[in-house]
Amino acid sequence: MTTRPRPKLNLRILILIFVLLSAIATLANSFWVTFKIQKQELIENALDVNEAYAARIAVSVEQVLNSDLDKLRYGAVVIGKSFDDKSLLAEEAERLFEQDASFNSVLVADAAGTIIASAPGSLHLDGKTLQHKEPLSLRAPKISNAFRSISGHLVVFITQPVFDAKGTYLGLIGGSVRLEQSNTLQALMDTNVRKDGAHVYLVDSARRVLYHSDPEQIGNVVGKDWVVDAALSQGAGTLQAMDEKGVEMLAGFAKVSSSGWGVISQQPLGNIQAVLRHTMAKVAQGIAPLALFGIMLIWWLGARISAPLSRLADCAKRLDTPDSYERISAIPARYFESWQIRRALLLGATLLQEKIGKLNQQAQTDVLTGLANRRAMQDILSRWYDADKAFAVVSMDIDHFKRVNDTFGHGVGDETLRAIAELMQQNSRVNDLPCRVGGEEFVLLLPNSSLQAATDVAERLRASIEAADIYMVGHITVSLGVALWRPGGDSVSAVLERADQLLYQAKQSGRNRVVVQPS
Ligand code: GH3
Ligand code: MG
Ligand code: MG
Repeated sequence: MTTRPRPKLNLRILILIFVLLSAIATLANSFWVTFKIQKQELIENALDVNEAYAARIAVSVEQVLNSDLDKLRYGAVVIGKSFDDKSLLAEEAERLFEQDASFNSVLVADAAGTIIASAPGSLHLDGKTLQHKEPLSLRAPKISNAFRSISGHLVVFITQPVFDAKGTYLGLIGGSVRLEQSNTLQALMDTNVRKDGAHVYLVDSARRVLYHSDPEQIGNVVGKDWVVDAALSQGAGTLQAMDEKGVEMLAGFAKVSSSGWGVISQQPLGNIQAVLRHTMAKVAQGIAPLALFGIMLIWWLGARISAPLSRLADCAKRLDTPDSYERISAIPARYFESWQIRRALLLGATLLQEKIGKLNQQAQTDVLTGLANRRAMQDILSRWYDADKAFAVVSMDIDHFKRVNDTFGHGVGDETLRAIAELMQQNSRVNDLPCRVGGEEFVLLLPNSSLQAATDVAERLRASIEAADIYMVGHITVSLGVALWRPGGDSVSAVLERADQLLYQAKQSGRNRVVVQPS
């Protein structure tokens, strides 16, 4: 017997563990790949959307600015004809201011930069000097960056030069757009507000914020920011980069070419990850019921695989029982290994049963004559007795056998015993049982026999022995006693004893005869 401890894992659990591990590995892998692909797609999609959005806004801003420049150009032509007519200048400024909501103020300045007409009058700009003088030297249409105006407001200034009919430069006409209050740019961008967490802003070429979805940011100058750099230097594109606060952004950008401004539409990478987590949670939820079903299926299959093995192991413990062959045969073997084990066990059971049978036979057989021995006789008598089966006992002893030994030697004596056994068998029916129960003492058991039939058998046997010519010895005789047992009779040993007594009587009354119990 092995002294190793009994393993705690059984085949069913092992199968479950192995299948689960490989399923988890496969699932985790596909989950990870899906996650990666989804993430990349979401990022690319966000970048594309932002780029398209920024481009659309840039075009719209461009249109607004060009429309503003057109309005001012028309005004410049009108006042260029009579620049000295102050009332005309005031009238034109007023007209442009009132025309629509494009400008928060309109002013006309002479070539030296002195404001000579303005609207609305409430600002009291006339006579003051232009703060932003660049358009004067430029003498060309100009859209400025943001700056603080004389009245302290953050503005952009859109100007057209004014020339007379000869082309002499007279000054400029300009409109301001106040960035910190409602204006056309803001109105334009507010109508395009994104609902997906992205924000959009407009910067001038000096990186100052002109518009932002968060109004607090308007007027701030953006610090180091890759996206702003890209928007101001390149035409249009996308970029995944940190903003000035160190937040990773997915940005699309475009340039407003007439003003040199940049439009940026961007959203934090974190937004994408939240969407991704949500998606993956949904995927996991979708997989869960199937996974649970899979585990149950594996558990069930594990039982189907391991059950025959443990049943075979149980049978292997009791191979010596007579029904072991049938029990092993009844175990289903649906796969090769269990079939192999079952076959080996069946073979083992057969061999063992044969061996046991042989040993039993040996234990019940007399070695010298091959007849049943005393133990076999006892066994069969008890069985018949238990089964209430009537039987006759013929007890037999060789007459003067000592002399055979003394005269011819023990070897011839043994041969004589074999010859007698042979004669007993010849005089028995199939169901009769000849036994050697002692040295030269024999018993013939006759099941379901009447006393008369038993007497006849005994007499026939006696006669045939007497008649036989035994090698070297010649003729010998036997004495026999015949007793009968009927259901409800006395014990087995009592019957045997009675038969012996009758045999003794046969000896006493001269040998070579049969003595039968009185019927
Ligand atoms: P009787 O029965 O007629 O009274 O005389 P008997 O000479 O046969 O006397 P008994 O039955 O007492 O003798 C038994 C003899 O059988 C004794 C022994 O020498 C002999 N014997 C017993 N077993 C064997 C055996 O296995 N082989 C041989 N050769 N002889 C045996
Ligand atoms: Mg004897
Ligand atoms: Mg004798």
